Amino acid sequence: MRRPFVAGNWKMHHLTQDALPFVDVLREACDRFSDVDVALFPPVTLLSNLSRAFAGVRVRLGAQVCHQARQGAYTGELSPAHLSDVGAQLVLCGHSERRQIFGEDDAIVAARLAAAQEEGLEPILCVGETEDEREKGETEAVLKRQLTSALKDRGSDQVSRITLAYEPVWAIGTGKTATPDIAQEAHAFLRAELRALFGDSIADACRILYGGSVKPDNLAGLLDQPDIDGGLVGGASLQPESFVALIREASRMRPRSVD
Ligand code: PEP
Repeated sequence: MRRPFVAGNWKMHHLTQDALPFVDVLREACDRFSDVDVALFPPVTLLSNLSRAFAGVRVRLGAQVCHQARQGAYTGELSPAHLSDVGAQLVLCGHSERRQIFGEDDAIVAARLAAAQEEGLEPILCVGETEDEREKGETEAVLKRQLTSALKDRGSDQVSRITLAYEPVWAIGTGKTATPDIAQEAHAFLRAELRALFGDSIADACRILYGGSVKPDNLAGLLDQPDIDGGLVGGASLQPESFVALIREASRMRPRSVD
């Protein structure tokens, strides 16, 4: 069974005072919507406090990026071990803002994903095409390249512990959500690629989240699609009320059997 999964990426937003109001609200939401898995990716400065505040609450915390080395002379960087030390259980790999603004190429993303798994962090691998690539008809080639390069050296057991996120770059932070049909087409393509690379059981069990201007009022249409298992959400995760509204919508998702 693929359980619905809602993950909030706070990017470079929120200080301690903004984060603490989420704790009680999410405790209640997680009890009420117990069929939904919930994760937050706050700025790393909040991880330690939030991991204490969320003790006993079914919210998993993650980091937005990690370096690929375990330690060393990399001023300003944080290794998976540092992130795990302050309570991260997950990490985003290959978010398009990291690829585009910070020059993370496919090889770096693959190395970071491997390093994260070695430390026991669960990666969410983000893939997605730009507007230009979509217009040129390159969407599937881009998705295939990003997916294959990140996973080609991973074994089946490791791939079974990865979540994918399809995030078309043209939809992130723009208010332009992909239509459910467009998103489903990309998700089905990614699942077919997983099937070709790693077989049926991994392809059927892997959760593929959609990200790109998800809001409480458009999530249900996306989750009606058979290959969309949840959302990776930026802007609409920044307020407790709208984040909870997303969790509520996800709890209405039809169960996905993996058989
Ligand atoms: C994101 O940052 O992964 C994202 C999808 O952002 P937004 O929901 O704001 O488009």
